[in-house]
Amino acid sequence: MAEPVTTETYGFQTEAKQLLQLMIHSLYSNREIFLRELISNASDAIDKLRFESIAKPDLVPAGDFAIRVTFDEENGTVSIADNGIGMTRDQVIEHLGTIAKSGTAEFLNQLTGDQKKDSNLIGQFGVGFYSAFIVADEVEVLTRSALDGQGESGTGTRWTSRGEDAFTVEDAPDLPAGTQVILHLKPDAKEFADAYRLRNIVGRYSDHIGVPVEMEKVAPPADDDGTSGTAATEFETVNSAKALWTRSRSEVEEDEYREFYKHVSHDFQDPLSWSHNRVEGKLEYTSLLYVPRSAPFDLWNREAPRGLKLYVQRVFIMDEAEQFLPLYLRFIKGVVDSNDLPLNVSREILQQDERVTSIRSALTKRALNMLETLAKNEPADYQTFIGEFGEVLKEGTGEDFANRETILKLLRFASTTDPDEEKHVSLEDYVGRMVEGQEKIYYLIAESPENAKSSPHLEVFRKKGIEVLLLFDRIDEWMMSNLQDFDGKAFVDVMRGDLALPGEADETPETESDGLTERIKAVLDDQVEDVRPSQRLTDSPACLVLGAHDPGAQMRKILEATGQQLPASKPVFEYNAGHPLLTRLDREADEDRFRDLVLILFDQASLADGTAPRDAAAYVNRLNRLLLSLLDD
Ligand code: ADP
Ligand code: MG
Repeated sequence: MAEPVTTETYGFQTEAKQLLQLMIHSLYSNREIFLRELISNASDAIDKLRFESIAKPDLVPAGDFAIRVTFDEENGTVSIADNGIGMTRDQVIEHLGTIAKSGTAEFLNQLTGDQKKDSNLIGQFGVGFYSAFIVADEVEVLTRSALDGQGESGTGTRWTSRGEDAFTVEDAPDLPAGTQVILHLKPDAKEFADAYRLRNIVGRYSDHIGVPVEMEKVAPPADDDGTSGTAATEFETVNSAKALWTRSRSEVEEDEYREFYKHVSHDFQDPLSWSHNRVEGKLEYTSLLYVPRSAPFDLWNREAPRGLKLYVQRVFIMDEAEQFLPLYLRFIKGVVDSNDLPLNVSREILQQDERVTSIRSALTKRALNMLETLAKNEPADYQTFIGEFGEVLKEGTGEDFANRETILKLLRFASTTDPDEEKHVSLEDYVGRMVEGQEKIYYLIAESPENAKSSPHLEVFRKKGIEVLLLFDRIDEWMMSNLQDFDGKAFVDVMRGDLALPGEADETPETESDGLTERIKAVLDDQVEDVRPSQRLTDSPACLVLGAHDPGAQMRKILEATGQQLPASKPVFEYNAGHPLLTRLDREADEDRFRDLVLILFDQASLADGTAPRDAAAYVNRLNRLLLSLLDD
């Protein structure tokens, strides 16, 4: 037989160590949240054992599930004990020594050493168990798995650490199933070993937990006859111990909703908005959905966990049930509690269940509705939302046909008429102020806001006072390729095709010299689809117009990044016949010089769209030749 393992020392995983250090050194305000985190873990552990006990009722502890918070003022300790699922020795080593979240290393790289910024980021990451070290210089965990078959009492594990590099584990005899976390408070955190303080914190942060949090009854003053004083310690429940979403909306305070959000989301910040609903009828369920204030660090990792906490008849079933919302709403956090699903429901079953499909489509509408309300009532908060999640929401225009119109109304764009050119303009705003005779919604796609604003393609629109939406998110070209119209108005890319603009018919360009068009064509030859005098330009000499089906610069980059070979695009070269450069060009007799000038105009047109000339070196050479000839003169 193998030697029984007793004491072992382990180093924390590098990521865990880094996070621990940050926690200890950056989070000096709001230190009391350690209690919320530990009670939250205790509540999760009880949720898990409750679930196991559906099949094995004798796992329910005598005296039912509870979390006990005790303290010892003299020794400066606080203890949080639960009779939940507990941990085996291997589980303690894994769960309290490493961070399993994918992307942790990446996340840590984003930390800047700026404490204020960093502590915000840590908040988004979820502080969790390590927050114990905010107030404790030594943490002790006594735990035993309720599933180890030892019954009411048996050998478990004692984990201890001072939060530096390492932790120690050893066998611990005679433990009940569950977990007890004992905090040896730092000298400057002794204030937490206090009945009033602790009750107050529990009330503030953990009232909504669906498990009783118990504390010692405050002893009444001893009776005159001296009979009290020897009685066993009595406990009383100090929170309301009713899962928040099961209460009626009118009973729940705003602050309680905010605290509950922090419990389900592991976020530090308050949510932007929430929506709490009970549905009765053929399907019965309750949902509580939240919009976070800032994007999580792994928003763009499609594998990152997402979804709602699923309960069935108030029993916790699983975290991250992603089947209840579409991917483009992956930022929504919250809870769904169904009365109809079976308690033994699995992820596989969720995927095909009709009830889930209909809850999902109802929750999708709820979530979009919550965003509409936010946009209407809290424009500043909605702007925050757009900045954090606007791009994700855009995915919905291609993924959720049924709600496309609603999603489109929720989007906000930068535009030529918005003074600070930020994403303020809705499609309804746009349509509402279209000029007389305008039937189309014009947009421009560019690589960056700067490129968008200075694009030559906007010149004629500025002249005619027609608004153009400026799009520069990575997803925009993809999105627009899926969209035909809004409110019956077709979307038109100002960089493509012939523009028939409303307003006075344009004067035909003065120098409608077929000769010039033909001479330019001869130079650009197979690099362009066509050459023509432009209706688009007022100030710039030339621009490039895309073919109706050519990928634009954004799409080209995306496709090329996936390894696809694309044929070189052939734009139409449009020149501004009234521009002095062009009138001069028309008179240029030296064919070599004419050629150089045309090629420079061509490359510059491409530069103006934010795309480098195809042969940058040749462009530079030509330009230098030209400069030199100026000096020669
Ligand atoms: P999170 O709660 O986000 O998973 P934590 O850092 O709070 O992260 O906890 C890490 C893990 O440690 C938990 O996922 C859980 O597996 C385990 N754990 C922590 N506290 C307890 C507890 N009281 N009972 C059982 N397991 C626990
Ligand atoms: Mg936790």
